[in-house]
Amino acid sequence: MKVDVLILGGGLAGLSAAYHLGARGVRSRLVVEAKARVGGTAGSVTTGEFTFDYTGHLLHLHDPYGRSLILDLLKGNLATHERKAWIYSQGAFTRYPFQANTRGLPASTVAECVAGFLETVHRPRLLTRNPDFLSWSRATFGDGITRRFMRPYNEKLWRRPLSSLTTEWQGRFVPKPSPSEVVYGALTDKNALFGYNTSFRYPVRGGIQSLPDALAGRLEAGVVRLESPVVAVDLREKVAQVKGLGEVGYERLVNTLPLNVFLDLASPLPAAVKRARKDLRWNTVWNLNIGIDRPAPADKHWIYYPEKRFPFYRVGYSSNFSPNLAPAGHAAVYIEAARPGGARVDRDKLEAAMIRGLREAGLLRRSDEISAKIWMPVPVGYVVYDRARAPAVEAVFRHFKALGVESIGRYGAWKYSFMEETILDGKRCADRLAGGPAVEPAPVSERRALQ
Ligand SMILES: Cc1cc2nc3c(=O)[nH]c(=O)nc-3n(C[C@H](O)[C@H](O)[C@H](O)COP(=O)(O)OP(=O)(O)OC[C@H]3O[C@@H](n4cnc5c(N)ncnc54)[C@H](O)[C@@H]3O)c2cc1C
Repeated sequence: MKVDVLILGGGLAGLSAAYHLGARGVRSRLVVEAKARVGGTAGSVTTGEFTFDYTGHLLHLHDPYGRSLILDLLKGNLATHERKAWIYSQGAFTRYPFQANTRGLPASTVAECVAGFLETVHRPRLLTRNPDFLSWSRATFGDGITRRFMRPYNEKLWRRPLSSLTTEWQGRFVPKPSPSEVVYGALTDKNALFGYNTSFRYPVRGGIQSLPDALAGRLEAGVVRLESPVVAVDLREKVAQVKGLGEVGYERLVNTLPLNVFLDLASPLPAAVKRARKDLRWNTVWNLNIGIDRPAPADKHWIYYPEKRFPFYRVGYSSNFSPNLAPAGHAAVYIEAARPGGARVDRDKLEAAMIRGLREAGLLRRSDEISAKIWMPVPVGYVVYDRARAPAVEAVFRHFKALGVESIGRYGAWKYSFMEETILDGKRCADRLAGGPAVEPAPVSERRALQ
């Protein structure tokens, strides 16, 4: 078998590349996907009457083209929600983001957080050009907010000393409030939404799986081959070994598998790339989902747990994104913990600790019946932005460029990104491969009609 473009992985990046290549007239393309469904991390699993995603998968649409495409794909199947996100610490619920909402915490904590923040305004600390996350947090939010939330929460998520992380990933994601917002949020329970992503969209039916399914539905039959894992790629001969298909030759290769996984399958690799592979670090997200026989609290979508006494860093109610994810009168709940990629984890022990933690947090009562339970870990969940990442990625991509290999998506490009961006990665890749003028976004009038 031989194709013009071979795409490894049928997540959003791979599907989008295939779709946009087709729109550019490149018909000879094949997506090989290991699983029995498309969508990868943006997929869902149904067990009994519950449907679960890989933790929360919410749509934030920022780019005009991405927005018009996604709205079109999910036409008639999208609801918009105003974010109801909370933080639980020192026995109190406070609104997210922590830095703008300290009311409800002990007075001494509020004073520590507000005074520390104001100090950053009146006596700014000097930062180097590429500061570490901890120094940046102290300089941006002050010592109090860093001590009470930024540090413990991020340590639970990244599972590494924060002084070893850079800040390259978080510019858009960690908003800095103004002094008046901080003071106001210390004095009042303000409902005015602050920060990035204050509302989101989510499918009414079918979980987030309906997005990749809709994208795959735009492809001709046979473009996607499911249950077809790639096991080896000979970059020199331009041939991939795919289980069930045998040898697949290609002119151009698009990888969307996690970069570490792809490099382990690919050969030959020069010494510099092999060294770079060793410098890639990531987290595994250990996601336990449960269904309980009681509705979710109406005022909460998800809650952050920065304190060490809880084994999870976040718990969310996906049945509050869509009631169709759980049977009537029940709640679908996702629970997230992180560990360094590759670390051995005793799942039973972690599960027991999570259930205990849910009880301690008051989210699970003795009388609750757990009517569904499923582990859905994400082996490569978050790429770690430490000092080794940028030079390693640069070395790998220099080699790929010389070979004409594309590596895209959240994991193929080894970055922190979201679904819309991933779909755009696929489009840009198709534009590069097909050459000529890019596919233009839908005209504004059409975009309005789609909303
Ligand atoms: C915990 C978590 C929460 C998130 N929340 C959000 C959110 O709220 N909003 C948002 O917009 N984004 C969110 N994201 C990001 C979103 O999931 C990604 O941006 C997007 O799904 C990445 O798609 P991808 O195609 O790049 O990678 P993937 O989805 O990982 O696709 C790669 C594909 O390759 C396949 N594959 C792997 N190995 C092989 C092999 N050997 N052969 C063939 N196929 C193989 C996989 O099965 C998979 O289908 C979240 C991510 C995580 C981890």
